[in-house]
Amino acid sequence: MTGLAGRLLDLAGGAMLDTAQVTAVSPLAPGFLRVRLTAEAFRKVTWVPGSKLQFRPRRGTMSLRTYTPIGWDAETGETELIAYTHGDGPAATWFRQVAVGDRCEVFGPRNSIDLRDVAGRPVVFVGDETSVALACALRTVTTDVSYIFEAQDPAALAGLLPGLNITERATVVAKDTGLLPLARAAAGPGPCILVVTGDAATVHAVRRDSLTWPLKPAKVKGKAYWAEGRAGLD
Ligand SMILES: Cc1cc2nc3c(=O)[nH]c(=O)nc-3n(C[C@H](O)[C@H](O)[C@H](O)COP(=O)(O)OP(=O)(O)OC[C@H]3O[C@@H](n4cnc5c(N)ncnc54)[C@H](O)[C@@H]3O)c2cc1C
Repeated sequence: MTGLAGRLLDLAGGAMLDTAQVTAVSPLAPGFLRVRLTAEAFRKVTWVPGSKLQFRPRRGTMSLRTYTPIGWDAETGETELIAYTHGDGPAATWFRQVAVGDRCEVFGPRNSIDLRDVAGRPVVFVGDETSVALACALRTVTTDVSYIFEAQDPAALAGLLPGLNITERATVVAKDTGLLPLARAAAGPGPCILVVTGDAATVHAVRRDSLTWPLKPAKVKGKAYWAEGRAGLD
């Protein structure tokens, strides 16, 4: 990016994006960070659990990365994110270096998965490291949830769940080791709501498999959060 093009993009971004300040950073487990953001613009927001917040990890580009607020306090203008710092992408790098007092440019929150209507039926939640924040957002709506996570490092993911109050009916398996039968078994005898996010390949496989469950989910809320070889999926 040339200096002039970068400056123009910064100007364009300035018109579209709000500025947030980092007001807390807590390492949760290897590869996971919880980050609190505070912004004046956050006071004007009605938060929908499951919605997304995007931010620009590098100035001079318009490339945004997408995260899930775990809650929202419109009175104080605060929200929190849980980031999985996989690899060397711009967002993972930003989170690894972030410190209290840093600023970032944010866009949203905007609709993604809408969890407001899931209460009243059991939920089967399938996800991975990138879905931990969505699991927290879901807890603000219902506790009748069976969680199945796949993870590159199952011990790290399992270790952070108790601190997020996810202690019951939570299973963590190593990636690519038999998640489908677990999701099917978790569905139970009555119609459930299936919430599935994370790796695009897993989201696709679980959606397809759920069509063959003895009792199909009453509703499926699914979204790919990342895909092998594709950057900045939204
Ligand atoms: C609606 C939505 C909500 C999301 N919420 C969260 C959230 O709350 N917390 C969170 O941590 N992430 C979340 N994500 C996923 C996150 O946006 C992606 O992981 C994103 O690609 C990270 O950006 P990056 O700049 O680090 O890597 P990128 O530059 O986007 O990608 C670099 C490379 O890493 C690969 N990659 C990206 N993520 C992963 C991964 N998890 N595992 C293995 N390889 C990966 C890509 O395929 C690519 O090859 C969400 C995504 C969406 C669409």
